[in-house]
Amino acid sequence: MPKVLIIGAGLSGLSTAYGLRNSNFDVKILEARSRLGGRIFTIEKENSQLEMGATWFGPQHTSLIQLIKELKIPFKTQDNGAEALYDFRPKGNIERFQIPSQGAATYKFNHGTSHLIETLAEASKAKIHFDEVVASISIDEHIKVSTSTAVFEADYLVLSIPPQLISEGIEFRPKLSETFNQLLQDTHTWMSDSIKFSIAYEDAFWKSQQFIGTLMSPHQIIQEMYDHSDNERDQNALVGFLNSNYSLLTWEERKEKVMGLLESYYPDEKRPLKAYADLNWRNELYTTPKNAKSLAPHQNNGNPKLRDSLFDNRLFFSASETAQQTPGYMDGAVHRGREVADFLLDLSD
Ligand SMILES: Cc1cc2nc3c(=O)[nH]c(=O)nc-3n(C[C@H](O)[C@H](O)[C@H](O)COP(=O)(O)OP(=O)(O)OC[C@H]3O[C@@H](n4cnc5c(N)ncnc54)[C@H](O)[C@@H]3O)c2cc1C
Repeated sequence: MPKVLIIGAGLSGLSTAYGLRNSNFDVKILEARSRLGGRIFTIEKENSQLEMGATWFGPQHTSLIQLIKELKIPFKTQDNGAEALYDFRPKGNIERFQIPSQGAATYKFNHGTSHLIETLAEASKAKIHFDEVVASISIDEHIKVSTSTAVFEADYLVLSIPPQLISEGIEFRPKLSETFNQLLQDTHTWMSDSIKFSIAYEDAFWKSQQFIGTLMSPHQIIQEMYDHSDNERDQNALVGFLNSNYSLLTWEERKEKVMGLLESYYPDEKRPLKAYADLNWRNELYTTPKNAKSLAPHQNNGNPKLRDSLFDNRLFFSASETAQQTPGYMDGAVHRGREVADFLLDLSD
């Protein structure tokens, strides 16, 4: 049985494994973290689901939608209400704006984005080894992949990790070409510079008939915020992004500032807090390398060179950033993950 080794149990790696589930390949995944999902990470706190990573998708994300329909994963429309609050302080005022009613729909998962990952991992039937950080790869007649604890052999290798991490963290023998290595280094990892936050309360005190929590504030700690309540779970929550200028603050300091800002919007409301969580993705070693170059958003995402297979069709790159369709997004991860699986299936015919 030819062996396929996939590095990374994020959405792209799992999509490749899923595409190979009925093949004659022996499929194994090595994952650096002790959890599945990579940039998809739903945490459960006080019976609330708080999204720390990817949350939303749209009708244009056709590969993702096809997969979630195949796996029968329920999803629903994100409701942003009729009005958004714009906070232009300190350079202006707080104002309310109508949200255009004809915008494209935005969807999210009924049971959190990690529900997709868990279902996909199970359906893929792949063997997943956690806490295995790939440090070096040697390719001659055989492919050998070394972590701090073991050496794994394979016939085909799929690198489903962000390109920048490959260039910064993995040593190749023989070395990758200078030009290709430079391209990996110069490929932005989508959202790796963001801080996501989520808060659960006893009551959805922010909701009124027109306004249900949608907020934009370019100069405050909360930059974007949306309602994340769920009547079925009795969950009252808000989710959004924090200003990356606050990334050097501690978690407690950020929490205090977020609470202070919400208090300034709702001075008269009681705010019984259940749970607060935020995640600064710049500090996540298996998403953003320590000395990551500062790049423009989406720089080199989807570059066709990233889809070249190397070493006589034995080494493939499949993180979302390498995808032709919607690179950087969940849809890109599924699209590219399945494309690599199809390519391997063709090779085995
Ligand atoms: C805060 C945030 C919000 C986002 N919001 C959205 C959204 O709303 N909609 C959307 O479509 N997309 C969103 N995204 C992007 C989306 O999460 C990604 O496109 C998608 O999850 C990428 O999947 P991937 O498998 O390509 O990469 P990753 O999820 O990064 O997976 C790579 C995996 O490789 C592992 N790994 C890394 N290095 C090694 C190593 N050396 N050895 C072994 N394993 C390793 C990692 O631990 C990880 O599990 C968001 C991302 C973030 C961070």
